[in-house]
Amino acid sequence: MSCDFLTLALPSIQELSPYVPGKPVDELARELGLNPADIVKLASNENPLGPSASVCAAISQALPELTRYPDGSGFALKEKLAAHYALDPAQITLGNGSNDILELVARAWLAPGRNAVFSAHAFAVYPIATLASGAECREVPAKDYAHDLDAMAAAIDSNTRVVFIANPNNPTGTWFNQASLNVFLSKVPENVLVVLDEAYIEYALDSDLPDGMDYLSRYPNLLVSRTFSKAYGLAALRVGYSASSKEIANILNRVRQPFNVNSLALVAACAALDDSDYLERSRTANTQGMQQLEDGFKQLGLSWLPSRGNFIAVDFNRDAAAINQALLEQGVIVRPVAGYAMPTFLRVSIGTKAENQRFLDALTHVLKQV
Ligand SMILES: *Cc1c(COP(=O)(O)O)cnc(C)c1O
Repeated sequence: MSCDFLTLALPSIQELSPYVPGKPVDELARELGLNPADIVKLASNENPLGPSASVCAAISQALPELTRYPDGSGFALKEKLAAHYALDPAQITLGNGSNDILELVARAWLAPGRNAVFSAHAFAVYPIATLASGAECREVPAKDYAHDLDAMAAAIDSNTRVVFIANPNNPTGTWFNQASLNVFLSKVPENVLVVLDEAYIEYALDSDLPDGMDYLSRYPNLLVSRTFSKAYGLAALRVGYSASSKEIANILNRVRQPFNVNSLALVAACAALDDSDYLERSRTANTQGMQQLEDGFKQLGLSWLPSRGNFIAVDFNRDAAAINQALLEQGVIVRPVAGYAMPTFLRVSIGTKAENQRFLDALTHVLKQV
């Protein structure tokens, strides 16, 4: 008789639902017998511009060193990030995607008997990292799909070690302003680590969103996580980072894998940080594409959640599963968000002008059918 390994796993891991990524283009092509070139994927908040030329050049130059381990300290990238944000390199922690940072936080501070506070409709990795470490998830109801920061502060108890907040949040695109963050941070006890996830912040700066980096010197219990996956266009390479106090960075450094960021990712991120032109083009394309989708939704009589990310959650006011399936049959991949308790919504990443149009045309067609 074989034993039941699930019952032998940590009880919280038995409750854990695995992360569901956006459907890969090749998978849909295989399933429907379509040409991958005819498929549009707007499902994973990827940068539609393609990689920066200077990033590709930096990667080619690094290829002869593939037999070597990467620089486990990430010296050059940390120096560059520190200069970029006027921080000390000892405040920076590099991650295999910012996802890695979230997991390092959970590993260092969460365990059975402890809890993490986060919002309903927040990024799926918060419950996954929390449950994987055996801790309790304190999911706080949202207000109009956005973080209810007052309720989140009130949900903190003596067993809370971490609060995850995302600004803007994925998949809702919702955000909070400087005043709300000020009030929230002043309420959080100083022994609770606040993880401010700014995966999309490059799309949202110059607005009323706070820049987490500005708060670090005042709040030693704050960690700001950011990524090269979205506005910098390096999702495939997996590189993200956090900025925090040196003490917190030192603790994360104890639990990370020795070579958690690979050498191609390190050189690519350095090149990406220098390519301000690419970042500017990403931002401009996103603003225009967001407008294009909102105009399209308006014409179709649909409502949506205003978003500061590179994606938008559109509401069909009925179960969106059939609409999603019909879009797939049209070769358009978007993201169902029923797993985020938003069964009437689909999340659509902002693509190129042509991709956005392709999606809107398919949606117009599909809404006549279903
Ligand atoms: C995409 C995303 C991340 C992290 O992505 P990485 O590719 O692991 O850097 C983190 N937080 C949110 C809210 C995201 O949407």
